[in-house]
Amino acid sequence: MIHSKSFVKEPGNENSHPLRECYDWALEHCQQRRDNDEGTMNTPMLMFVQKSVHEHSNYVTRRYYASTLESFLRFYSGHGSCDTERHFDEVVGCGPCKAFLDFDLDFGRETPAKFGCQDIDELCQKAEDATSALISAIVEYHRHSHAVCVEPIIMKAHRPGRKWSKHVVFRGSLWHDVTHVGAYIKWQCQQLADKYPLLEQRSCKMVDQSVYYYRRCFRMYRSSKATEPSRSFTLESGPAEYEWHANESANRSINDRLLIDSLITAVPLPKPDSLTENESDNAASEMGEEQQPHVTSTFLEAAPHVAALVGLQPIQFYKLTDDDQTLSRRGPRRADLGSNAFCDPDFARELQDFFSDQQPERVVPFAGGNMLRLDCRSRQCPLALRVHRSNHVYVLVNLLTGDYAIHCYSGACRDQRKQWQKLPPDIFAEHLTSARDNCSDAQLLPSLARVVNMMEW
Ligand SMILES: [Zn+2]
Repeated sequence: MIHSKSFVKEPGNENSHPLRECYDWALEHCQQRRDNDEGTMNTPMLMFVQKSVHEHSNYVTRRYYASTLESFLRFYSGHGSCDTERHFDEVVGCGPCKAFLDFDLDFGRETPAKFGCQDIDELCQKAEDATSALISAIVEYHRHSHAVCVEPIIMKAHRPGRKWSKHVVFRGSLWHDVTHVGAYIKWQCQQLADKYPLLEQRSCKMVDQSVYYYRRCFRMYRSSKATEPSRSFTLESGPAEYEWHANESANRSINDRLLIDSLITAVPLPKPDSLTENESDNAASEMGEEQQPHVTSTFLEAAPHVAALVGLQPIQFYKLTDDDQTLSRRGPRRADLGSNAFCDPDFARELQDFFSDQQPERVVPFAGGNMLRLDCRSRQCPLALRVHRSNHVYVLVNLLTGDYAIHCYSGACRDQRKQWQKLPPDIFAEHLTSARDNCSDAQLLPSLARVVNMMEW
């Protein structure tokens, strides 16, 4: 049984992205036949990337990995004896994940005076207060709205005098995917912004909102930046059993459990009551001593029965607003497939019929698979209310909500408020209504995961 595989980007080969190869490999290999077992076992896979700096040119190269959690642990702690030698990011894909926060306060950009502070010390104190308030609110939200007990794992990598930086991962939380976390964090910040101006999104970037998109990378616990190896992410505070790891030195060995808990996409699930003794044994030997199954972003599609067994019910918090246009601006690099092969042909045909006035030419995945984009021949623009000379219109369809809006490539139209409307329910009946309305239902999760996975590339 193979445990991990790595790929690097080949220069000049635009058709291959190493991350895509990792996903393909992971999906292929997460189903593994065990000896003396007719069925197949599913093993969660993790995506991560290792960065290294070229000695002379300062050019950073990235090697992408798909790996089981087990072999990741071996690899990670065995790789370098010190945090200064470890440069790893977790890649957050399109599956379930924990709630997380990325705080960044650059004192060059967010000056003390801007927030009515005398000096950097006072600004740091305000940042600490705002951070604590936000973390508490998130813990409360999980407890009150979802009856889930979560514990923040707080990691820090400050740079005295220049930058104040923290990562927080909420152990015990489980969200439908990273965009749902982002929508929730945005809402939660708004609730607190009056009292804590540093959480106000328009004037301050302390809470980094750009991390809530598919395929973003998130530096790991006890890793440093390749370009700045002296600062690694170390534990500031966490669940009681990990407290003694706080402020440990950069060359101490790494606690495996803490490392897994600090990952965004490795979500430990409670041991299911419904597992029979025999199944439980199998699961235990497969999942390790703790007898605790995990899901990871790439795991769900191939392991619907595990999700069903443990009653996996990821939290959903997603409401489309005009601001979601930022999805298209900040979203991951578009991967045009150039055909409709990635999605159900019937569905693509129905969309093309429905938007026939716009003369669609093809349907491509957009915003990491959250949306579809229909590229159109029409230049009749509903925003400018005229026919453009050269700019074409395009349609965005939100796959989570079933809403669509007609967009346009003209610079003047780009910033205009778009009219989002509902698609007729019969078009989405099969694919999306059920996936959207029922994706808290473990049985239906696979259908959504399949839609998203197929379209991500
Ligand atoms: Zn226009």
